[in-house]
Amino acid sequence: MTLDTLSARAASASLPFGALAAQPADALLSLIALYRADDRPQKIDLGVGVFRNDAGDTPVMRAVKAAEAVLLETQVTKSYLGAEGDAAYTALLAGIVFGDRTAGERLNGVQTPGGTGALRLGAELVARANREARVWIGTPTWPNHAPIFAEAGLSTRSHRFYDAVSGRIDFDAMLNDLAEARAGDILLLHGCCHNPTGSAFTPEQWLAVSDLCAARGLIPFIDLAYQGLGDGLAEDAAATRMIVDALPAALVAYSGDKNFGLYRERVGALWALSANGAIAERVRTNMLSLARSLWSMPPDHGAAIVRTILENDALRADWRDELDAMRARLNGLRAALAAMHSRLAPIADQRGMFAMLPLTHEAVAALREEHGIYMAGNGRINIAGLRADTVAVFAQALRPHLHAGEGGP
Ligand code: PMP
Repeated sequence: MTLDTLSARAASASLPFGALAAQPADALLSLIALYRADDRPQKIDLGVGVFRNDAGDTPVMRAVKAAEAVLLETQVTKSYLGAEGDAAYTALLAGIVFGDRTAGERLNGVQTPGGTGALRLGAELVARANREARVWIGTPTWPNHAPIFAEAGLSTRSHRFYDAVSGRIDFDAMLNDLAEARAGDILLLHGCCHNPTGSAFTPEQWLAVSDLCAARGLIPFIDLAYQGLGDGLAEDAAATRMIVDALPAALVAYSGDKNFGLYRERVGALWALSANGAIAERVRTNMLSLARSLWSMPPDHGAAIVRTILENDALRADWRDELDAMRARLNGLRAALAAMHSRLAPIADQRGMFAMLPLTHEAVAALREEHGIYMAGNGRINIAGLRADTVAVFAQALRPHLHAGEGGP
């Protein structure tokens, strides 16, 4: 900050809002502006995290269009729902997330505005229950995670879990760092398709995480934002289901914005698992009172679309088919990119929309300036921004910036 801006702030500090410091623009949104302004026809956008098809578009899914037509015909009122949102939507979605298991009266869900709303509502619930709880967050993660918990008044702690050099999970480092976690602390976990690394725990490592939570009294807070975009709907929820079966308490924040392609419609839900029915009932009333003061009630349209799809066998099947094709596209691109260079090999085993390339900030800038390739500053790429015919072009541009791993070309 320059002296001029400092003294301008000091002079205005006594005015209403004058004490506010300017906040940096969202880095990914700035990247979109840079990409749009680039007139090179061969430019490649690997920045923003939305699914793209082979034509580079993020289309409305077929089942969503069909559900919207049904709603247009059949919806007779837009009168208020309650703070819990559309209970039929949450119940149908619970079937997708938790399968046929019923944690009975111990598991409560409410509709939220997107996964972000679910995370924030969960953070507020934790803060109301135990202000001393600290939230353990693996690095790197989605940049919004720490601010969501911090704005709810909770303190956050980072732990390692990923080795950026090898592109693999470093589970020992994670266990080492979590040795400092205290009973009542929250452990934030990505249920599948980690953003930004694409890395995943093995089933054995998930069991160890669950055992650790049980032994140390930690509460897992699972962020499930990409179900169906990794290995399949049931596969991507397996860790969440195992945790719900094994532990007395957990939180699950869900986003349906990617797997239903409904991003701006803000589709989400928060589930809380409690130790017994009596606590669960208190948790439920607290979720509702917090939601009431945060957004009163969630927006309906996206959830109504999801409910309409899930309650209709034909629409549900078509949604699953299109989701399967989206996943196949991502995993096909992963395999093609991984085959291009030994340093890219882990990408084949990773899942979801993102991968984090072992690139310096300078390399990321050089790729943008010299080749018109746009990605987040930390080297995160949106796999769906690639196409069958640009994978090789991209790998060729990357080559001088990748240092060969052991035994690799
Ligand atoms: N969690 C993760 C890991 C995400 O990547 C995102 C979206 N980028 C969200 C939550 C939030 O999703 P939504 O858009 O539904 O708020």
